Amino acid sequence: MSKEKTKGQQLADELFYEAPLAADSAADAFEKANAFCEGYKTFLDEGKTERECTSYAEKMLVEAGYKPFEPGVVYQPGDKIYTVNRAKSILAATIGTRSMAEGMHLNIAHVDAPRLDLKPNPLYQSADLALLQTHYYGGIRKYQWPTLPLALHGVVFKKNGEKVEINIGEKPGDPVFCITDLLPHLGADQNARKLSEGITGEELNIVVGSLPYEDEEVKDRVKLLTMKLLNEMYGITERDFNRAEIEAVPAQKAVDVGFDRGLVGAYGQDDRIDAYPALVAEIETKNPAFTTVCVLTDKEEIGSDGPTGLASMYVFHFMQQLCAAHGVDSITCFKASKCLSADVTAAYDPTFSSAFEPQNSTYAGKGVALAKYTGSRGKGGANDASAELVSYFTRIFDDAGVVWQLGEMGKVDQGGGGTVAKYVAAHDIDTLDVGVPVLSMHSPFELASKVDIYMAYKAFKAFNEAQE
Ligand code: MN
Ligand code: MN
Repeated sequence: MSKEKTKGQQLADELFYEAPLAADSAADAFEKANAFCEGYKTFLDEGKTERECTSYAEKMLVEAGYKPFEPGVVYQPGDKIYTVNRAKSILAATIGTRSMAEGMHLNIAHVDAPRLDLKPNPLYQSADLALLQTHYYGGIRKYQWPTLPLALHGVVFKKNGEKVEINIGEKPGDPVFCITDLLPHLGADQNARKLSEGITGEELNIVVGSLPYEDEEVKDRVKLLTMKLLNEMYGITERDFNRAEIEAVPAQKAVDVGFDRGLVGAYGQDDRIDAYPALVAEIETKNPAFTTVCVLTDKEEIGSDGPTGLASMYVFHFMQQLCAAHGVDSITCFKASKCLSADVTAAYDPTFSSAFEPQNSTYAGKGVALAKYTGSRGKGGANDASAELVSYFTRIFDDAGVVWQLGEMGKVDQGGGGTVAKYVAAHDIDTLDVGVPVLSMHSPFELASKVDIYMAYKAFKAFNEAQE
């Protein structure tokens, strides 16, 4: 029995807005998202570090026919090129039919993630255990990292310059590594600490050995056996740790979460959750009007500094060289370009609702999130996209059936965060923040809605295929 709507109800339908659930947008919305996320979960399992993500992305690009970028070459519309920056970031482009003077369309996400890096001199023995000291990378809540199976990923350069790759703790049968925590029976002092000091940076030591080298005459026998095994496996000595980048990450694989399998649970979704959809959208883009550029960058989690971060010129040098070869003034190109700066947003968490303002939060399941601004303490450090730009992108998304929501991160003055948007905007490029909402962001096991991930892919694709 449907009652006829009153005049007021009809007016409310017309004038009010309530964000829909992305899963309701089409009968097969979840089915498509679910299929898309199978590739995404593989991407997460194959890429637990920025280096691994870069090399996996390169493999995908090469398989799709992308050729290494050569400065000075005049490319034809539809040509697909890529370039790797110092093994830690990668960018790919498809040449558009329009002049580069009309601008490029950039989709940028980052592939570094919060983690524990080994210190330069990490290995020691204490109480007949061998341990590795760490220095955390990015914003972690340190108490979340003990008592988890950890894997070690990275590279070591030997004295002679030879590179050795390390990846242990992931394959069935591999050993894993672990940071300990105190038992509750003896937790009286630790329980009185503030949460932020529950585990301190210097307490993030990873147990990696417990058996002694057989010779009782030698000191540090447990450390010696561990070093001997490392030498047998990788040909390295203790000094080589000085020339290494080794990251400890959760050994857990990406999995479905929930009886309905609606969420992906995994380590490192910030920001591979935007990187993978942006990469797939780039690969699928054929003969775009505007030259598309997809960037998977590094160092976002520690401020984008360094030559592989967005504060470096590498993306803009690429654009300048491309313009130069095509006889286009790069300043004109930059000014006409647009960018989706992708990074995760905080999904409203009903368990911790007091940190959020519900009307302006982004929600898991309500589509890809846009943020006009990020920043903290009165939008400090924010790019703050213009209403004109938000209008441009939302029209494109609406036309392509992208379910999107627009909000901000948490309550005013609750904290905040920045993205790479401002480093792109600094080059006179109009930039909007976009990204998938994530629960438990920066934790060893982050959650995100599959439908939102799929909507992010649709958003990047719509931007690549835009005619305006
Ligand atoms: Mn982050
Ligand atoms: Mn991020």
